[in-house]
Amino acid sequence: VHVPFCGAICPYCDFAVRRPGAGERARYLSALEREAEHWGKRWTRSIDTVYLGGGTPSALDDDGLARLVAHLRAALPLTDASLLFMEVNPEDVRAERCAAWRALGVGFLSLGVQSFDNHELRRLGRRHRGVEASVAVECCLAAGFETVSADLIFGLPGQQPSAWAANLDTLTALGPEHVSCYQLTIHEGTPYGRGRQRGRLHELSEAKQAELYHLAHERLGRAGYEAYEVSNFSRGPGHRSRHNQKYWMHAPYLGLGPSAHSFDGRRRWWNERALPAYLAAVQRVGSAVVGSERLSQRDLALETLMLRLRTAEGLDLEDFRGRFEVDLRGLNVSLIESLCANRLTALDGSWLRPTAGGMAVADGLVARFRLD
Ligand code: SF4
Repeated sequence: VHVPFCGAICPYCDFAVRRPGAGERARYLSALEREAEHWGKRWTRSIDTVYLGGGTPSALDDDGLARLVAHLRAALPLTDASLLFMEVNPEDVRAERCAAWRALGVGFLSLGVQSFDNHELRRLGRRHRGVEASVAVECCLAAGFETVSADLIFGLPGQQPSAWAANLDTLTALGPEHVSCYQLTIHEGTPYGRGRQRGRLHELSEAKQAELYHLAHERLGRAGYEAYEVSNFSRGPGHRSRHNQKYWMHAPYLGLGPSAHSFDGRRRWWNERALPAYLAAVQRVGSAVVGSERLSQRDLALETLMLRLRTAEGLDLEDFRGRFEVDLRGLNVSLIESLCANRLTALDGSWLRPTAGGMAVADGLVARFRLD
């Protein structure tokens, strides 16, 4: 569920987000309820995880969130054991709000820390300070969520390994059960993108980015976190993101809200991106679908390869052959040999798994495979 509001728009962000105008939160909630009802009549698969993301769901007040969650439960085929995930920003965290989120049924809380360094936070356009991020993590941990996760960003222009290591060490000392480390991406059309175009902002070299990535693996590994996906680390399998794992497993999902994407196993469709267009479409026809594509067997095979080689579990080559009638192993004998010799992947029976080194270059790896 995409909540399109943020208190301030970060200069690197290219999501469909805006600062909420007068009455927009209420109009959004009404439209979302209508959209959930629309899909409740059409989506027959049971739903066992719900992810409130965005945007910043905590930009909605707790009454608004309670209304939203109650409506989702009423309109959609959620299972009794469905798990609720929610993204929040540190400046919204307070003990009483954590209690309200717990009461809503939030089990997995994802906190947008990004950095503990005030200078970095200012450059990222974030509204919190480092100490507030620490207090927010502690507050969430004390509130009794099943899993507290914290997001960090690395690869800021000019970022030194020592600064990144300090962020990792501060976080591991606080001890959330789950950590996501995202490499900063500079998108065209954002203030960061314009800064790069004008030569005022310089991306870190790939070698420096890789150094920071390996540093994250080393520090988090030493602190007891396992890397189970390129950007995601957990303290034991029980704290992995059950929701995000579905994307990597190619499971069907329903997206609601502006810019949300959905996938039924064959077809992908997506909603109007801008809030006014989304509101108008839902008012007109109950949904806001603006485009769709049917994925061919080859598309699905390629996506499966791409997604699975981002996970530590890797890809079962036999299963892949059965599903897509593509003998990946036979078509790529020398490539797989060389990836294993260079310790970018390992073969374990029929499973091809990326190593930490392979995860650092996962997208590049996939591009080298032949599918026919
Ligand atoms: S808080 Fe997240 S979603 Fe909101 S503007 Fe910043 S990066 Fe984008």
